[in-house]
Formats: sequence, C-alpha cells, structure tokens
Amino acid sequence: MIKQLSRIPLLVCALALGLASLPGSQALAQDAKRTIEKVTGDVYRFQNNFHYAMFVVTDEGIVVTDPINADAVNWLKAELASRFDKPVTHMLLSHFHADHASGGQAWGNIEVIAHERTKAHVEAGRVDTAMPTETFADRHSFSFGGKDFELVHLGVGHSDDLIAMVVLPEKVAFVVDAVSPQRLPWRDFPNTDINGLIDQIKVIESLDFEILVPGHSVIGSKKDATDIRVYIEKPRDSVKAALDEGRSEDEIFASDIVSEYQHWGAYDQWRELNIRGMIRWLRETGQAG
Ligand SMILES: [Zn+2]
Repeated sequence: MIKQLSRIPLLVCALALGLASLPGSQALAQDAKRTIEKVTGDVYRFQNNFHYAMFVVTDEGIVVTDPINADAVNWLKAELASRFDKPVTHMLLSHFHADHASGGQAWGNIEVIAHERTKAHVEAGRVDTAMPTETFADRHSFSFGGKDFELVHLGVGHSDDLIAMVVLPEKVAFVVDAVSPQRLPWRDFPNTDINGLIDQIKVIESLDFEILVPGHSVIGSKKDATDIRVYIEKPRDSVKAALDEGRSEDEIFASDIVSEYQHWGAYDQWRELNIRGMIRWLRETGQAG
C-alpha cells in the first residue's frame, strides 16, 4: 500500500476540484474564493476555493492546519495579522497529499506537527511543504494557550498518514478527505483501500467531539461521519452481492443502489464512479469475480 502510494502523483485530491487545481495560474490566484468563518469559540474555518483548513486562536498564539498552498498561506497570514494580535506558532498537517499540504514554508519558522509518515513523504519529495518538526506514530496530545489538542493517526485507507485533530474545550474535530459531510466520496475511490477507509471513519466516530470541520464540503457533526461510513458500506455489500449473482456492471449501474442519497452533493457526477471504484476494489482484492 505504501509502495503503491509513493508511485502515484499526488494530485489525487487536487484533481477532484477541476478548475481549482490548475497549477501556477495567475488568474486563478486572483480569482480564488477565500473566506474565514467562525466555527465556535476560538475555532475558525478557512476556505480556499474547494479546500478548507482550520485554525485556533489561543492565548499564546495561533495554531493553523493545512496550508493548502503558498498563495493561500500568504492571504491567511495577512488576514490573521489584521484580525488578531497573535503570532502563528504551530501548523498541523493532516496528511501529505499536495492539494492540502503544499506551501507550508510560507509560514516561516514555526512548529510543524505531523504523522511520522507525513515527514517521510516530505523528505522523499512527494509534497513541497515545510518539514515537520514534531512527529508521532499513534496519538499525540499537547496543551497550548488554554486549549488542548488531541491528534490521532487514523490508519491506512485514504492515504497512510492521515490524522484527525480534536480541539478542546470546543470539541471540534478537523478531519480531511476521509469524511466530507453530505457529499459522495470522491470519484472512484482512487488509491484507497475501502475497508481501510471504513476503519478510518470508525476511529473518527470513536473520538470525543461534537463539530466536524472537514477539508471539503460543509461543517458537520459526528453523525455525518457515521452517515458516510454507512453510505460506503451499503454499496460495498450490495455491489458484491450483485457481482456474486453474476449481474453485469450496466445492470448494477441501472439498479437503485444508493438512490436514497440523491440529496447529497455530487450524486449525479460521482454515483456511477463510486460504484465503478467499488467494483474495481472488490475485484482487485479478490472479493468478487
Ligand atoms: Zn487526500
């Protein structure tokens, strides 16, 4: 899995975003949609087009999360300077995928916290960002400026280094890519171990939080994590049953699998791709013929 990950260009999430992922476009930089919204307490969400990151304003300094890219960092840096009289002291990287983790150097000399595999990915040149200064394997907690930060590695599924961060006392979780509330999973589950992804979501569900701030889609709650897991488990089981019955891919696409999710984002664009990816994964893992 790790080997396979390392071979694949890190555009996995970036490609999800169509026009938002065009590299180096001046016009894009000028047109980027960037906003800041308060989540609760001292926790805020930052938008850069279709990507989101979170930051926490503590008594001693500001803790930021994914940089997204250098232009986004420079915009956020100016906004934070004008809104808060606090230095940015820490950055958390959710995982190494370039569309979330790029451009971290633009923050300058700050603490960079990440999973140990994220550091290995940065060292191997798989993403151009700040080198982590503090890493961990399973769990890592720290207190800073009156807040508690709890970081948890989610295992291997979407990426091999994905972590979640819970901020207390606000009870807000920052979760990237494994859960995008009320939206279908991205395209055909590329480079994803689907059972691993389900296990990652179960770890998220086990954490003590109330508000879920995702890297894509709308702010949600723990229920949204459960809903996504159930959404993935349903087609996994019904597609497998259909393949076992000898039904063709066209028959499966034409069936009513996941039709109850029509109100979710990207249903029309990604339903068939989701099922296609599920079929491919079932076959690749020898679970279906
Ligand atoms: Zn990702």
